[in-house]
Amino acid sequence: MILGNLADGLTRGVEGAFGAVNEAFFEPTIRLGVTGLSRAGKTIFITALVANLINRGRMPGLAAAAQGRIEAAFLQPQPDDTLPRFAYETHLAALSGDTPRWPESTSGVSELRLSLLVRPTGLLAGMAGARTVHLDIVDYPGEWLLDLGLLDLDFAAWSEKTLARVAARGELGADFEAALREADTSAKLDEPRAQELAARFTAYLQAAKAAGYSDCAPGRFLLPGDLAGSPVLTFAPLAKGPAPRGSLAREFARRYESYRREVVRPFFRDHFARLDRQIILVDVLSAVHGGPAALDDLRQALADILAAFRPGQNDFLRQIFLGRRIEKILFAATKADHIHHSQHARLAAIAEALLAEAKSRADFAGAKTRALALAAYRATTEERIDHGGEPRDVVQGILSATGKRAAFHPGDLPEDPARLLAPARDGAERFLDGDFSAMVFAPQPVSLKPGEGPPHIRLDKAAEFLIGDRI
Ligand code: GDP
Repeated sequence: MILGNLADGLTRGVEGAFGAVNEAFFEPTIRLGVTGLSRAGKTIFITALVANLINRGRMPGLAAAAQGRIEAAFLQPQPDDTLPRFAYETHLAALSGDTPRWPESTSGVSELRLSLLVRPTGLLAGMAGARTVHLDIVDYPGEWLLDLGLLDLDFAAWSEKTLARVAARGELGADFEAALREADTSAKLDEPRAQELAARFTAYLQAAKAAGYSDCAPGRFLLPGDLAGSPVLTFAPLAKGPAPRGSLAREFARRYESYRREVVRPFFRDHFARLDRQIILVDVLSAVHGGPAALDDLRQALADILAAFRPGQNDFLRQIFLGRRIEKILFAATKADHIHHSQHARLAAIAEALLAEAKSRADFAGAKTRALALAAYRATTEERIDHGGEPRDVVQGILSATGKRAAFHPGDLPEDPARLLAPARDGAERFLDGDFSAMVFAPQPVSLKPGEGPPHIRLDKAAEFLIGDRI
């Protein structure tokens, strides 16, 4: 374990030194991490960001674009040969076909390199020619960050914590609990039985996720990628008890250790610790729609996710970062096109409140943070309708469920985020100001003028915060 840590540190040291030299003498590279819990909007964000950086007509909030300093933006082969490439073209084709549809969501880590040819500002502006800045975008599930918590827990401690959570989630975990009661975990390992137990545990995690719970670690059980069916994902938490050599209990403890060593640590070391900038996407509106319990669960999951961005708090992270840090973190409430723009500041305030809580516990080692509300791909238009003699601001779009156009007012978000967050924390059944409805809009067919990217809300502001100072 200690040797492993040291080796992690050394590799990072060499890479870090090379990275610095590379940056100074060659072409600067920005590594942007895009994460969020599943369905938060990562795939749409990356697709829309890249499309709007290639065609910059809708990016006035990105200073370099507004000043006309970006001469070109083009996709290039990515630097990491072993990572899947983000399927940008397939995703964009889904969004922009004759009958546009939302593309497949993120299920693992992927990468895309967009290179920008940029003219410098200031003193150098007249003298130097355009230079190339590489933007390496790394897409990965937020669920994988929740696995950081596993690094501090041995199998017994993790089992205890996880079984307490299973019990607290009632019916969702009943089937797994029953399987556990029947299992003789001190008996000799029988692989089909081990698989059965792991399958029931996975089914519980899937049910919990479907019921709106955010924290469903271990993250690869829900998003296994190419590890599906491997022994490293074939274990489950067990109650305390004897674990003789060769028993199922002993083997599960061993596999849990493998999961931490072979899956969790390499992800943090090889991908996470190399990021310079990070956007965390949050589907606040769906959680508000889900009610106080869903919102509180999101709050807790985000606090756990944000723990990964405070390397000072964790020995392992301190070692792999070696004093480097993620310089900027943007916390973005997504799908803002579901509400009228008069409500956007309130949505941003909720995101800000969720972030502030994590910040109050520890800072982000000097990283700049910001919260905003955005829609990476705008699927609605705004309108004012007459509602019983009163004017009412609504959004209008094509409903995914029916394919029909509908106008929609989801309810007013409160000015003070505490009106939502306090009842959530207190375990209230309902919000103080009534409920909020949510609808799924399909992407609308758009005809783009030359030089224009797809419609969005504040994607340019997000880009300015994340990369504006480096281009
Ligand atoms: P991922 O799991 O984080 O990759 O999530 P996706 O990017 O696939 O988004 C999940 C779903 O959220 C999509 O299928 C859309 O229905 C919805 N969505 C994401 N971004 C937007 C947006 O900007 N506007 C709207 N209206 N819906 C969005």
